[in-house]
Amino acid sequence: MKTEIIEGWPQGHEIRILVSDTDSSQVNAIRRALIADVPKLAITRVDFSQGVTQDNKGEVVESVNALPDEVIAHRLAMIPIPTNLDEGLVFPEACENCRDVVEKDKGCPMCQVLYTLSARGPSSDSEEELKTVFAGDITTISDPVFDIREEHKQIPLTVLSKGQFLEFYAFAVLGRGRDHAKWSPVAAVGFRPQQIAVLEKPKKAKVLFDLGLTTTDGTPIDPKLFGKDKKITNINHVMDLEKALHQVGAGTGRDGDFDEAITMETVDGAFVFSFETDGSLDPVTAFNMALDELSTRFDNLNEDLASALA
Ligand SMILES: [Zn+2]
Repeated sequence: MKTEIIEGWPQGHEIRILVSDTDSSQVNAIRRALIADVPKLAITRVDFSQGVTQDNKGEVVESVNALPDEVIAHRLAMIPIPTNLDEGLVFPEACENCRDVVEKDKGCPMCQVLYTLSARGPSSDSEEELKTVFAGDITTISDPVFDIREEHKQIPLTVLSKGQFLEFYAFAVLGRGRDHAKWSPVAAVGFRPQQIAVLEKPKKAKVLFDLGLTTTDGTPIDPKLFGKDKKITNINHVMDLEKALHQVGAGTGRDGDFDEAITMETVDGAFVFSFETDGSLDPVTAFNMALDELSTRFDNLNEDLASALA
């Protein structure tokens, strides 16, 4: 199997990768590994402060809230936590300090990342009625490398009215998507056979070229896009062209004149693999981790088979 990042990617957290010399079941194994096996950090426990307290101005605030604690805990679990496995974090079940202690004592700096938040609604003399609490209000108590990323700070958690406060400690641990979706680092994972566009009937293809469409990188969709051999091999351009062909497809009233002037050839054993991460991992790291997960699994299988057959 060969893998190659397609030119122009990754873009943000999205990526396209050409996987060749393979078949669909192998590519699907990578897809499943990305969704279910690649570990990431997610908040899994939240300790809320509860009760009524008085601030230094004598104002009384209470831990009631528009949302139930469970819902806030769920929203916290969905915030992408920057995951860098080089930091030496271990899975809670593999942690030497915590493996053999009772449930309530589990959790130490080696296996969890600690966050805190302390917010209160507008003061009683304020003109504002509500205050929104954002993911950006969360403070990291552990290493700053785990700070919520800038792009995720605008995620709203809840709103507080006058006289309300929200205070908690939150604990993030490593996990895998197969145990809970909050530990799945990717979205929109898919793949399709690699295709090459062929210009079969240049005159009839004018129906498409006259529409003045462009590819996502701004190149006009015209005869020049197809080089001398009347083919497009650039994967991004082929995918853009595929979308453009809907403008001359069945039901558009142009399909008769267009008369399948451009056709698609499928490349054997090659697939365009695309996905995006939630921002906890960069897409290249996530893909490599998926391949590592698969190779470890098959190594284990080889060992098991060897010992079973010995
Ligand atoms: Zn631990």
